[in-house]
Amino acid sequence: MDWKEQLRNQVNTLERLRLYIEPTVEEIEAIETMNTKWGTTPHYAALMDKKDPACPIRRQVVPSLKERENRYGIDNYLIWKENRDTAEHRPDAIARQYHDKIAFAVTDVCANYCRHCFRKEVVVDHTLELRFDVEEGLSWIRNAPEIRDVLITGGDPFLLSNDRIEYLVRKLREIPHVEMIRFGTRTVIALPQRMEEGLLKVLGGLHRVPIWINTQCNHPKELTPESAEAVYKLMGCGINVGNQAVLLKGINDDVDTFRKLHLKLLQFRIRPYYVFYCEPAPGIDHFRTPVEKGAELIRDAIRGHTTGLAQPMYVVATNVGKIPLAPDYYIRERDEKEYTLVNFKGQVTRMPNIPE
Ligand SMILES: *Cc1c(COP(=O)(O)O)cnc(C)c1O
Ligand code: SF4
Repeated sequence: MDWKEQLRNQVNTLERLRLYIEPTVEEIEAIETMNTKWGTTPHYAALMDKKDPACPIRRQVVPSLKERENRYGIDNYLIWKENRDTAEHRPDAIARQYHDKIAFAVTDVCANYCRHCFRKEVVVDHTLELRFDVEEGLSWIRNAPEIRDVLITGGDPFLLSNDRIEYLVRKLREIPHVEMIRFGTRTVIALPQRMEEGLLKVLGGLHRVPIWINTQCNHPKELTPESAEAVYKLMGCGINVGNQAVLLKGINDDVDTFRKLHLKLLQFRIRPYYVFYCEPAPGIDHFRTPVEKGAELIRDAIRGHTTGLAQPMYVVATNVGKIPLAPDYYIRERDEKEYTLVNFKGQVTRMPNIPE
């Protein structure tokens, strides 16, 4: 199936879901009673375990009754998170937290509706309305000379047609202050067939304004030969691919899975970039771990245990930007003379404390 057939055959009805799994009574009730958009590609659906409702792939795409619970989520999350009620007037498509870079949402559709999505209210549940208008966004960027980095997001921007993507990239490249374009897309994982010749032609080549891509892969099972080929094709036309995982309870929050995920990403030539704390959007409490968990996993699974390139930065995305959290045990003591440092094995060493 090519990418358009994948989308035409999107697994978004109970009938189609039954081609891949035996849904549980709870899953069926969630699908039939909750007013929520759900679905995935045949490619991704085929990775689900037929019988096990705890399958890490299945839990990411099949609706759950737990989404009705909301003890910790913040309503109208994106209004708070993306500073939409501050004095600066911006179109809905532009999310801003920093001086020289913005996130530019160009669509609210996806190939794969992640149950843990932090934009769930807009993309999945449609309980919050934001207008993701490309022209409004482009004209805002044209008039904001401090913006040098445009992160195109959604929804999933690679669900736009090649012509629309070509237009977007061309218009952004015409803006003299834009120095780089980034795409955040899950298609590398959920719809790798999207990396076909037409799109590669639009994205590829040596330009003043380079294109970078980040995808989202949360579990080693998501990495298939099709995704490996997609990444290789992107690199072949000059595009680096990074990963932004979301830390998900019961899916990737154990040492073994966390390490496997990051090592397999490197095998697929995907550079681990971020691991995100699962944000307090409403209805996703059941995916959330304690805040420190990501830092602990880096301490116990990655740093010192394996290839340094496999190490992502663990960040908590907030209304005041992303806040990196590192394991906090490295400095055991400091005095005027020296620092006492400790490594991943608990071995202690010392460094002289040089006065400024
Ligand atoms: C994440 C994000 C960016 C990009 O941040 P990087 O740390 O540079 O990847 C830009 N703008 C907004 C609003 C974001 O949320
Ligand atoms: S692909 Fe991205 S925007 Fe779409 S549902 Fe998943 S996390 Fe949300």
